[in-house]
Amino acid sequence: MYYESTRNSTLKIASAEAIVQGISPDGGLFVPCGIPSLTLDEISSFGKLSYPEIAERVFSLYLTDFSADEIRNCVKSAYCTGSFETENVDELKTLRRGLNILELWHGPTCAFKDMALQILPHLLTASVRKTGTDKKVCVLVATSGDTGKAALEGFKDAPGTNILVFYPENGVSAMQKLQMTTQDGSNVGVCAIKGNFDDAQTGVKKIFTDPAVAEKLSENGIMFSSANSINWGRLAPQIVYYVAAYAKLVEAGELELGEKLNVTVPTGNFGNILAAYYAKCMGVPIGKLICASNSNNVLTDFLRTGVYDRNRRFYTTISPSMDILVSSNLERLLYHLSGGDSDYISGLFAELSSKGRFEVSDGIKKSLRELFWADFCTDGETKAAISDTYKSFGYTVDTHTGVAVGVYNKYLADTGDKTCALIASTASPYKFPDAVLSALGASCGGDEFEKAETLCKISGLPIPKALSELRSKKPRFTGSVERGEMLGYVYEALGIK
Ligand SMILES: *Cc1c(COP(=O)(O)O)cnc(C)c1O
Repeated sequence: MYYESTRNSTLKIASAEAIVQGISPDGGLFVPCGIPSLTLDEISSFGKLSYPEIAERVFSLYLTDFSADEIRNCVKSAYCTGSFETENVDELKTLRRGLNILELWHGPTCAFKDMALQILPHLLTASVRKTGTDKKVCVLVATSGDTGKAALEGFKDAPGTNILVFYPENGVSAMQKLQMTTQDGSNVGVCAIKGNFDDAQTGVKKIFTDPAVAEKLSENGIMFSSANSINWGRLAPQIVYYVAAYAKLVEAGELELGEKLNVTVPTGNFGNILAAYYAKCMGVPIGKLICASNSNNVLTDFLRTGVYDRNRRFYTTISPSMDILVSSNLERLLYHLSGGDSDYISGLFAELSSKGRFEVSDGIKKSLRELFWADFCTDGETKAAISDTYKSFGYTVDTHTGVAVGVYNKYLADTGDKTCALIASTASPYKFPDAVLSALGASCGGDEFEKAETLCKISGLPIPKALSELRSKKPRFTGSVERGEMLGYVYEALGIK
Protein backbone atom coordinates (compact mmCIF):
# COMPACT_ATOMS: atom_id res chain seq x y z
CA MET A 1 0.00 0.00 0.00
CA TYR A 2 1.38 3.36 -1.04
CA TYR A 3 0.28 6.89 -0.29
CA GLU A 4 0.03 9.70 -2.81
CA SER A 5 -0.43 13.43 -2.45
CA THR A 6 -3.80 14.98 -3.28
CA ARG A 7 -1.88 17.61 -5.26
CA ASN A 8 0.59 15.29 -6.97
CA SER A 9 -0.59 11.77 -7.68
CA THR A 10 2.78 10.75 -9.12
CA LEU A 11 4.39 11.05 -5.69
CA LYS A 12 4.16 7.65 -4.01
CA ILE A 13 5.52 6.91 -0.55
CA ALA A 14 5.12 4.31 2.21
CA SER A 15 2.93 4.98 5.24
CA ALA A 16 5.89 5.56 7.60
CA GLU A 17 7.12 8.35 5.33
CA ALA A 18 3.62 9.85 5.09
CA ILE A 19 3.31 9.88 8.88
CA VAL A 20 6.74 11.47 9.39
CA GLN A 21 6.14 14.14 6.74
CA GLY A 22 2.58 14.92 7.91
CA ILE A 23 1.84 17.11 4.90
CA SER A 24 3.22 16.77 1.37
CA PRO A 25 5.77 19.39 0.22
CA ASP A 26 3.30 20.40 -2.56
CA GLY A 27 0.78 21.38 0.13
CA GLY A 28 -1.39 18.31 -0.48
CA LEU A 29 -2.48 15.64 1.98
CA PHE A 30 -1.43 12.00 1.81
CA VAL A 31 -4.13 9.48 0.89
CA PRO A 32 -3.97 5.71 0.32
CA CYS A 33 -3.56 4.85 -3.39
CA GLY A 34 -6.29 2.23 -3.11
CA ILE A 35 -8.71 1.74 -0.26
CA PRO A 36 -8.43 -1.82 1.14
CA SER A 37 -11.59 -3.85 1.62
CA LEU A 38 -13.11 -6.14 4.19
CA THR A 39 -15.69 -8.86 3.50
CA LEU A 40 -18.89 -9.05 5.53
CA ASP A 41 -17.63 -12.29 7.04
CA GLU A 42 -14.46 -10.59 8.21
CA ILE A 43 -16.42 -7.69 9.68
CA SER A 44 -18.76 -10.11 11.41
CA SER A 45 -15.80 -12.00 12.91
CA PHE A 46 -14.60 -8.74 14.49
CA GLY A 47 -17.70 -8.82 16.70
CA LYS A 48 -15.91 -11.23 19.00
CA LEU A 49 -12.62 -9.32 19.11
CA SER A 50 -11.45 -6.61 21.50
CA TYR A 51 -10.95 -3.04 20.30
CA PRO A 52 -7.12 -3.41 20.20
CA GLU A 53 -7.45 -6.62 18.18
CA ILE A 54 -9.73 -4.92 15.64
CA ALA A 55 -7.28 -2.00 15.51
CA GLU A 56 -4.46 -4.41 14.65
CA ARG A 57 -6.51 -5.92 11.80
CA VAL A 58 -7.40 -2.54 10.31
CA PHE A 59 -3.88 -1.11 10.65
CA SER A 60 -2.39 -4.16 8.95
CA LEU A 61 -4.35 -3.18 5.81
CA TYR A 62 -3.18 0.44 5.80
CA LEU A 63 0.32 0.32 7.30
CA THR A 64 1.70 -2.44 5.11
CA ASP A 65 5.29 -1.28 5.64
CA PHE A 66 4.94 -1.96 9.39
CA SER A 67 5.62 -5.47 10.71
CA ALA A 68 2.88 -7.24 12.69
CA ASP A 69 5.00 -6.75 15.82
CA GLU A 70 5.42 -3.04 15.21
CA ILE A 71 1.68 -2.62 14.79
CA ARG A 72 0.95 -4.71 17.88
CA ASN A 73 3.38 -2.69 19.99
CA CYS A 74 1.84 0.61 18.89
CA VAL A 75 -1.69 -0.63 19.57
CA LYS A 76 -0.78 -2.07 22.98
CA SER A 77 1.00 1.10 24.10
CA ALA A 78 -1.99 3.21 23.11
CA TYR A 79 -5.02 1.19 24.15
CA CYS A 80 -3.84 -1.39 26.71
CA THR A 81 -2.07 0.64 29.40
CA GLY A 82 -5.07 1.85 31.37
CA SER A 83 -5.22 5.35 29.91
CA PHE A 84 -8.83 4.74 28.81
CA GLU A 85 -11.26 4.60 31.72
CA THR A 86 -13.44 1.86 30.21
CA GLU A 87 -12.43 -1.64 29.33
CA ASN A 88 -13.55 -1.33 25.70
CA VAL A 89 -11.70 1.92 24.79
CA ASP A 90 -14.95 3.19 23.24
CA GLU A 91 -18.49 2.42 24.42
CA LEU A 92 -21.74 1.83 22.54
CA LYS A 93 -24.96 2.98 24.18
CA THR A 94 -28.33 2.04 22.70
CA LEU A 95 -30.86 4.75 23.55
CA ARG A 96 -33.71 2.93 21.84
CA ARG A 97 -33.90 0.33 19.09
CA GLY A 98 -32.30 1.89 16.00
CA LEU A 99 -30.60 4.76 17.85
CA ASN A 100 -27.08 4.18 19.10
CA ILE A 101 -24.42 6.47 20.55
CA LEU A 102 -20.74 5.75 20.09
CA GLU A 103 -18.94 7.28 23.08
CA LEU A 104 -15.43 8.15 21.99
CA TRP A 105 -14.39 10.16 25.03
CA HIS A 106 -13.21 7.71 27.67
CA GLY A 107 -9.55 8.57 27.09
CA PRO A 108 -7.29 10.71 29.27
CA THR A 109 -8.56 14.09 28.01
CA CYS A 110 -12.26 13.20 27.72
CA ALA A 111 -12.56 14.07 24.01
CA PHE A 112 -12.54 11.80 20.94
CA LYS A 113 -9.15 13.16 19.85
CA ASP A 114 -7.60 10.70 22.33
CA MET A 115 -8.68 7.82 20.08
CA ALA A 116 -6.02 8.91 17.58
CA LEU A 117 -3.62 10.97 19.68
CA GLN A 118 -2.98 8.11 22.11
CA ILE A 119 -1.53 6.07 19.26
CA LEU A 120 -0.02 8.74 16.97
CA PRO A 121 3.16 9.17 19.08
CA HIS A 122 3.85 5.44 18.83
CA LEU A 123 3.15 5.37 15.09
CA LEU A 124 5.34 8.43 14.65
CA THR A 125 8.34 7.17 16.63
CA ALA A 126 8.11 3.79 14.87
CA SER A 127 7.91 5.63 11.52
CA VAL A 128 10.91 7.80 12.34
CA ARG A 129 12.95 4.67 13.12
CA LYS A 130 11.80 3.02 9.89
CA THR A 131 12.78 5.98 7.76
CA GLY A 132 16.28 5.69 9.19
CA THR A 133 16.76 9.08 10.78
CA ASP A 134 18.22 9.28 14.27
CA LYS A 135 16.90 12.78 14.91
CA LYS A 136 14.76 13.63 17.87
CA VAL A 137 11.23 14.72 16.94
CA CYS A 138 9.78 17.98 18.24
CA VAL A 139 6.02 18.24 17.87
CA LEU A 140 4.68 21.79 17.78
CA VAL A 141 0.98 22.37 18.35
CA ALA A 142 -1.22 25.45 18.31
CA THR A 143 -4.49 24.65 20.04
CA SER A 144 -7.88 26.13 20.71
CA GLY A 145 -8.34 23.63 23.55
CA ASP A 146 -8.87 19.92 22.89
CA THR A 147 -6.05 19.04 20.50
CA GLY A 148 -3.28 20.49 22.68
CA LYS A 149 -4.20 18.50 25.75
CA ALA A 150 -4.77 15.30 23.81
CA ALA A 151 -1.39 15.69 22.07
CA LEU A 152 0.34 16.40 25.41
CA GLU A 153 -1.14 13.25 26.97
CA GLY A 154 -0.15 11.21 23.94
CA PHE A 155 3.42 12.44 23.66
CA LYS A 156 4.34 12.84 27.33
CA ASP A 157 7.48 10.80 28.05
CA ALA A 158 7.39 9.22 24.55
CA PRO A 159 11.05 8.36 23.90
CA GLY A 160 12.84 10.51 21.33
CA THR A 161 10.19 13.25 21.30
CA ASN A 162 9.45 16.68 22.69
CA ILE A 163 6.09 18.34 22.58
CA LEU A 164 5.46 22.08 22.81
CA VAL A 165 1.95 23.50 22.89
CA PHE A 166 0.84 27.10 22.41
CA TYR A 167 -2.63 28.24 23.41
CA PRO A 168 -4.33 31.65 23.38
CA GLU A 169 -4.12 33.10 26.90
CA ASN A 170 -7.80 34.08 27.02
CA GLY A 171 -9.18 31.72 24.37
CA VAL A 172 -9.70 28.38 26.13
CA SER A 173 -12.16 27.24 28.82
CA ALA A 174 -11.09 27.23 32.48
CA MET A 175 -11.08 23.44 32.54
CA GLN A 176 -9.07 23.24 29.31
CA LYS A 177 -6.50 25.70 30.68
CA LEU A 178 -6.08 23.72 33.91
CA GLN A 179 -5.75 20.51 31.90
CA MET A 180 -2.80 21.99 30.02
CA THR A 181 -0.99 24.02 32.69
CA THR A 182 -0.89 21.03 35.08
CA GLN A 183 0.45 18.63 32.42
CA ASP A 184 3.09 16.20 33.68
CA GLY A 185 5.89 14.54 31.71
CA SER A 186 9.59 15.32 31.26
CA ASN A 187 9.45 16.23 27.56
CA VAL A 188 6.51 18.65 27.52
CA GLY A 189 6.19 22.42 27.33
CA VAL A 190 3.05 24.55 27.45
CA CYS A 191 2.98 28.26 26.78
CA ALA A 192 0.19 30.81 26.65
CA ILE A 193 0.46 33.50 24.01
CA LYS A 194 -0.90 37.00 24.19
CA GLY A 195 -3.19 36.69 21.20
CA ASN A 196 -6.00 34.56 19.80
CA PHE A 197 -5.97 31.06 18.28
CA ASP A 198 -5.18 32.38 14.80
CA ASP A 199 -2.10 34.17 16.18
CA ALA A 200 -0.94 30.94 17.80
CA GLN A 201 -1.56 28.98 14.60
CA THR A 202 0.15 31.55 12.39
CA GLY A 203 3.14 31.66 14.75
CA VAL A 204 3.52 27.89 14.72
CA LYS A 205 3.22 27.70 10.92
CA LYS A 206 5.91 30.37 10.58
CA ILE A 207 8.32 28.50 12.84
CA PHE A 208 7.47 25.26 11.06
CA THR A 209 8.21 26.49 7.57
CA ASP A 210 11.25 28.72 8.26
CA PRO A 211 14.25 27.02 6.59
CA ALA A 212 16.70 28.80 8.92
CA VAL A 213 14.93 27.32 11.93
CA ALA A 214 14.91 23.83 10.38
CA GLU A 215 18.65 24.16 9.71
CA LYS A 216 19.37 25.17 13.29
CA LEU A 217 17.27 22.31 14.66
CA SER A 218 18.99 19.87 12.35
CA GLU A 219 22.42 20.97 13.67
CA ASN A 220 21.09 20.04 17.09
CA GLY A 221 19.79 16.65 15.96
CA ILE A 222 16.11 17.65 16.05
CA MET A 223 13.32 17.73 13.43
CA PHE A 224 9.79 19.13 13.60
CA SER A 225 6.65 17.09 13.11
CA SER A 226 2.92 17.67 13.34
CA ALA A 227 0.15 16.12 15.42
CA ASN A 228 -2.50 17.92 13.40
CA SER A 229 -5.43 16.03 11.89
CA ILE A 230 -3.94 16.35 8.41
CA ASN A 231 -1.48 13.62 9.46
CA TRP A 232 -2.49 10.19 8.13
CA GLY A 233 -1.39 8.79 11.49
CA ARG A 234 -4.36 10.56 13.05
CA LEU A 235 -6.91 9.53 10.45
CA ALA A 236 -6.19 5.78 10.25
CA PRO A 237 -6.95 5.18 13.96
CA GLN A 238 -10.37 6.79 13.51
CA ILE A 239 -11.42 4.29 10.83
CA VAL A 240 -11.08 1.55 13.42
CA TYR A 241 -13.97 2.63 15.62
CA TYR A 242 -16.48 2.70 12.78
CA VAL A 243 -15.51 -0.83 11.72
CA ALA A 244 -15.64 -1.93 15.37
CA ALA A 245 -18.99 -0.24 16.04
CA TYR A 246 -20.65 -1.98 13.09
CA ALA A 247 -19.27 -5.37 14.14
CA LYS A 248 -20.39 -4.88 17.75
CA LEU A 249 -23.90 -3.79 16.75
CA VAL A 250 -24.24 -6.97 14.68
CA GLU A 251 -22.86 -9.03 17.56
CA ALA A 252 -25.38 -7.42 19.93
CA GLY A 253 -28.28 -8.18 17.58
CA GLU A 254 -28.97 -4.50 16.94
CA LEU A 255 -28.21 -5.00 13.23
CA GLU A 256 -28.42 -7.86 10.75
CA LEU A 257 -25.10 -8.49 9.02
CA GLY A 258 -25.23 -6.42 5.81
CA GLU A 259 -28.02 -4.13 7.03
CA LYS A 260 -27.27 -0.42 6.54
CA LEU A 261 -26.19 1.87 9.37
CA ASN A 262 -26.51 5.65 9.04
CA VAL A 263 -23.74 7.56 10.77
CA THR A 264 -24.07 11.11 12.16
CA VAL A 265 -20.87 12.98 13.01
CA PRO A 266 -20.39 16.42 14.63
CA THR A 267 -17.91 17.91 12.23
CA GLY A 268 -15.22 20.59 12.26
CA ASN A 269 -12.09 19.73 10.33
CA PHE A 270 -13.87 16.83 8.54
CA GLY A 271 -11.46 14.23 9.96
CA ASN A 272 -13.93 12.16 11.95
CA ILE A 273 -16.61 11.93 9.25
CA LEU A 274 -13.96 11.20 6.62
CA ALA A 275 -12.90 8.18 8.68
CA ALA A 276 -16.52 6.95 8.45
CA TYR A 277 -16.34 7.46 4.67
CA TYR A 278 -13.19 5.29 4.51
CA ALA A 279 -14.94 2.61 6.59
CA LYS A 280 -17.84 2.69 4.10
CA CYS A 281 -15.46 2.40 1.14
CA MET A 282 -13.82 -0.60 2.85
CA GLY A 283 -17.14 -2.43 2.76
CA VAL A 284 -18.71 -1.60 6.12
CA PRO A 285 -22.44 -1.27 5.26
CA ILE A 286 -22.73 2.39 6.13
CA GLY A 287 -25.70 4.20 4.57
CA LYS A 288 -25.90 7.98 4.74
CA LEU A 289 -23.08 10.01 6.22
CA ILE A 290 -24.88 12.77 8.10
CA CYS A 291 -22.67 15.80 8.56
CA ALA A 292 -23.61 17.94 11.59
CA SER A 293 -22.30 21.49 11.92
CA ASN A 294 -22.87 24.36 14.34
CA SER A 295 -23.56 27.93 13.14
CA ASN A 296 -20.25 27.85 11.29
CA ASN A 297 -22.16 25.92 8.64
CA VAL A 298 -19.78 26.13 5.70
CA LEU A 299 -19.96 22.34 5.26
CA THR A 300 -23.77 22.25 5.32
CA ASP A 301 -23.83 24.70 2.43
CA PHE A 302 -21.07 22.91 0.59
CA LEU A 303 -22.57 19.43 0.81
CA ARG A 304 -25.92 20.81 -0.36
CA THR A 305 -24.76 23.06 -3.19
CA GLY A 306 -21.22 22.04 -4.17
CA VAL A 307 -20.02 25.59 -3.47
CA TYR A 308 -17.45 25.98 -0.69
CA ASP A 309 -17.33 29.57 0.48
CA ARG A 310 -15.37 30.58 3.55
CA ASN A 311 -16.19 34.26 3.11
CA ARG A 312 -18.69 34.44 5.92
CA ARG A 313 -19.05 35.51 9.49
CA PHE A 314 -17.22 33.45 12.08
CA TYR A 315 -19.32 32.49 15.13
CA THR A 316 -18.02 31.62 18.59
CA THR A 317 -20.34 28.84 19.75
CA ILE A 318 -20.90 26.49 22.69
CA SER A 319 -19.30 23.72 20.58
CA PRO A 320 -15.91 25.44 20.14
CA SER A 321 -14.06 22.45 18.67
CA MET A 322 -16.29 22.81 15.59
CA ASP A 323 -15.75 26.56 15.17
CA ILE A 324 -13.90 26.15 11.90
CA LEU A 325 -14.31 27.68 8.44
CA VAL A 326 -11.63 25.72 6.57
CA SER A 327 -12.14 21.97 6.94
CA SER A 328 -8.79 20.66 5.79
CA ASN A 329 -9.68 16.98 5.46
CA LEU A 330 -12.35 17.76 2.86
CA GLU A 331 -9.47 17.82 0.37
CA ARG A 332 -9.02 14.07 0.82
CA LEU A 333 -12.69 13.35 0.09
CA LEU A 334 -12.70 15.52 -3.03
CA TYR A 335 -9.54 13.84 -4.29
CA HIS A 336 -11.17 10.43 -4.05
CA LEU A 337 -14.43 11.65 -5.63
CA SER A 338 -12.51 13.22 -8.52
CA GLY A 339 -11.01 9.82 -9.28
CA GLY A 340 -7.57 10.89 -8.05
CA ASP A 341 -7.26 13.97 -10.27
CA SER A 342 -4.52 15.90 -8.46
CA ASP A 343 -4.44 18.71 -11.07
CA TYR A 344 -8.12 19.34 -10.52
CA ILE A 345 -7.69 19.35 -6.71
CA SER A 346 -4.68 21.69 -6.90
CA GLY A 347 -6.85 24.06 -8.93
CA LEU A 348 -9.72 24.00 -6.43
CA PHE A 349 -7.49 24.71 -3.46
CA ALA A 350 -5.56 27.43 -5.29
CA GLU A 351 -8.95 29.09 -5.79
CA LEU A 352 -9.79 28.63 -2.13
CA SER A 353 -6.64 30.42 -1.07
CA SER A 354 -6.97 33.23 -3.62
CA LYS A 355 -10.75 33.79 -3.54
CA GLY A 356 -11.87 31.92 -0.41
CA ARG A 357 -14.29 29.94 -2.57
CA PHE A 358 -14.61 27.08 -5.08
CA GLU A 359 -17.33 25.11 -6.83
CA VAL A 360 -16.99 21.42 -7.65
CA SER A 361 -18.03 19.66 -10.87
CA ASP A 362 -21.54 18.28 -11.49
CA GLY A 363 -20.22 14.73 -11.16
CA ILE A 364 -18.83 15.41 -7.70
CA LYS A 365 -22.01 17.23 -6.66
CA LYS A 366 -23.96 14.11 -7.54
CA SER A 367 -21.64 11.88 -5.47
CA LEU A 368 -21.87 14.28 -2.53
CA ARG A 369 -25.67 14.15 -2.60
CA GLU A 370 -25.65 10.35 -2.69
CA LEU A 371 -23.16 9.94 0.13
CA PHE A 372 -24.05 12.76 2.51
CA TRP A 373 -26.86 14.60 4.17
CA ALA A 374 -26.00 17.82 5.98
CA ASP A 375 -27.54 20.33 8.35
CA PHE A 376 -26.57 22.51 11.30
CA CYS A 377 -27.80 23.57 14.75
CA THR A 378 -27.64 27.00 16.32
CA ASP A 379 -26.63 27.17 19.99
CA GLY A 380 -30.31 27.37 20.96
CA GLU A 381 -31.14 24.25 18.91
CA THR A 382 -28.15 22.46 20.40
CA LYS A 383 -29.31 23.18 23.95
CA ALA A 384 -32.82 22.03 23.03
CA ALA A 385 -31.35 18.76 21.69
CA ILE A 386 -29.36 18.23 24.92
CA SER A 387 -32.50 18.83 26.94
CA ASP A 388 -34.72 16.58 24.76
CA THR A 389 -32.19 13.74 24.91
CA TYR A 390 -32.11 14.02 28.68
CA LYS A 391 -35.91 14.07 28.94
CA SER A 392 -36.47 11.19 26.51
CA PHE A 393 -33.66 8.86 27.57
CA GLY A 394 -32.17 10.19 30.82
CA TYR A 395 -28.94 10.50 28.87
CA THR A 396 -26.68 13.57 28.99
CA VAL A 397 -24.62 14.61 25.97
CA ASP A 398 -22.02 17.35 25.57
CA THR A 399 -22.51 20.34 23.27
CA HIS A 400 -20.74 18.82 20.24
CA THR A 401 -22.75 15.61 20.48
CA GLY A 402 -25.80 17.82 21.05
CA VAL A 403 -25.25 19.32 17.60
CA ALA A 404 -25.16 15.81 16.12
CA VAL A 405 -28.33 14.70 17.91
CA GLY A 406 -30.13 17.87 16.81
CA VAL A 407 -29.11 17.35 13.19
CA TYR A 408 -30.05 13.67 13.29
CA ASN A 409 -33.53 14.67 14.50
CA LYS A 410 -33.80 17.08 11.57
CA TYR A 411 -32.79 14.25 9.24
CA LEU A 412 -35.50 12.00 10.65
CA ALA A 413 -38.13 14.74 10.35
CA ASP A 414 -37.06 15.57 6.79
CA THR A 415 -36.65 12.08 5.33
CA GLY A 416 -38.55 9.71 7.61
CA ASP A 417 -35.62 7.33 7.06
CA LYS A 418 -35.74 4.77 9.89
CA THR A 419 -32.43 3.11 9.00
CA CYS A 420 -30.53 2.13 12.16
CA ALA A 421 -28.49 5.12 13.35
CA LEU A 422 -25.14 5.65 15.00
CA ILE A 423 -24.24 9.04 16.44
CA ALA A 424 -20.59 9.78 17.17
CA SER A 425 -20.29 11.29 20.65
CA THR A 426 -17.09 13.31 20.74
CA ALA A 427 -16.69 14.74 24.25
CA SER A 428 -17.65 14.14 27.84
CA PRO A 429 -20.33 16.57 29.05
CA TYR A 430 -17.97 17.39 31.92
CA LYS A 431 -15.71 19.26 29.51
CA PHE A 432 -18.39 21.87 28.84
CA PRO A 433 -20.35 22.03 32.12
CA ASP A 434 -21.66 25.61 31.75
CA ALA A 435 -23.51 25.05 28.50
CA VAL A 436 -24.72 21.58 29.45
CA LEU A 437 -26.05 22.72 32.85
CA SER A 438 -27.77 25.68 31.27
CA ALA A 439 -29.36 23.40 28.63
CA LEU A 440 -30.68 21.20 31.43
CA GLY A 441 -32.08 24.22 33.26
CA ALA A 442 -29.71 23.80 36.24
CA SER A 443 -27.71 26.48 38.03
CA CYS A 444 -24.07 26.90 36.98
CA GLY A 445 -22.68 28.38 40.21
CA GLY A 446 -19.27 27.70 41.75
CA ASP A 447 -15.92 26.73 40.27
CA GLU A 448 -15.35 24.09 37.59
CA PHE A 449 -15.36 21.28 40.15
CA GLU A 450 -18.55 22.40 41.86
CA LYS A 451 -20.21 22.58 38.45
CA ALA A 452 -19.00 19.05 37.77
CA GLU A 453 -20.61 17.89 41.01
CA THR A 454 -23.92 19.52 40.08
CA LEU A 455 -23.76 17.83 36.68
CA CYS A 456 -22.94 14.50 38.33
CA LYS A 457 -26.09 14.69 40.45
CA ILE A 458 -28.24 15.41 37.41
CA SER A 459 -26.67 13.09 34.85
CA GLY A 460 -25.67 10.19 37.06
CA LEU A 461 -22.48 9.90 35.00
CA PRO A 462 -19.29 9.42 37.01
CA ILE A 463 -16.95 12.42 36.91
CA PRO A 464 -13.92 11.34 34.83
CA LYS A 465 -10.90 10.84 37.07
CA ALA A 466 -8.75 12.80 34.65
CA LEU A 467 -10.85 15.90 35.37
CA SER A 468 -11.46 15.50 39.12
CA GLU A 469 -7.74 14.93 39.69
CA LEU A 470 -7.00 18.39 38.36
CA ARG A 471 -8.38 19.89 41.53
CA SER A 472 -5.33 18.91 43.57
CA LYS A 473 -2.75 19.55 40.83
CA LYS A 474 -0.50 22.60 40.88
CA PRO A 475 -0.06 24.44 37.58
CA ARG A 476 3.49 23.91 36.24
CA PHE A 477 3.29 26.13 33.17
CA THR A 478 2.21 29.62 34.10
CA GLY A 479 4.27 31.62 31.58
CA SER A 480 2.96 33.55 28.62
CA VAL A 481 4.79 35.19 25.74
CA GLU A 482 4.14 37.85 23.12
CA ARG A 483 3.41 36.55 19.62
CA GLY A 484 6.90 37.54 18.48
CA GLU A 485 8.55 35.55 21.28
CA MET A 486 7.33 32.07 20.31
CA LEU A 487 10.52 31.02 18.55
CA GLY A 488 12.57 32.11 21.56
CA TYR A 489 10.38 29.89 23.73
CA VAL A 490 10.92 26.93 21.39
CA TYR A 491 14.72 27.33 21.42
CA GLU A 492 14.79 27.68 25.17
CA ALA A 493 12.57 24.64 25.71
CA LEU A 494 14.78 22.56 23.40
CA GLY A 495 18.01 23.84 24.98
CA ILE A 496 19.18 25.44 21.73
CA LYS A 497 21.32 28.57 22.00
C1 LIG B 1 -12.21 18.13 17.17
C2 LIG B 1 -13.60 17.89 17.65
C3 LIG B 1 -14.69 17.77 16.76
C4 LIG B 1 -14.55 17.91 15.26
O1 LIG B 1 -13.89 16.80 14.69
P1 LIG B 1 -13.28 16.89 13.20
O2 LIG B 1 -12.56 15.62 13.00
O3 LIG B 1 -12.36 18.09 13.24
O4 LIG B 1 -14.40 17.09 12.27
C5 LIG B 1 -15.95 17.51 17.29
N1 LIG B 1 -16.14 17.42 18.62
C6 LIG B 1 -15.12 17.53 19.51
C7 LIG B 1 -15.42 17.44 20.96
C8 LIG B 1 -13.81 17.77 19.07
O5 LIG B 1 -12.81 17.91 19.96
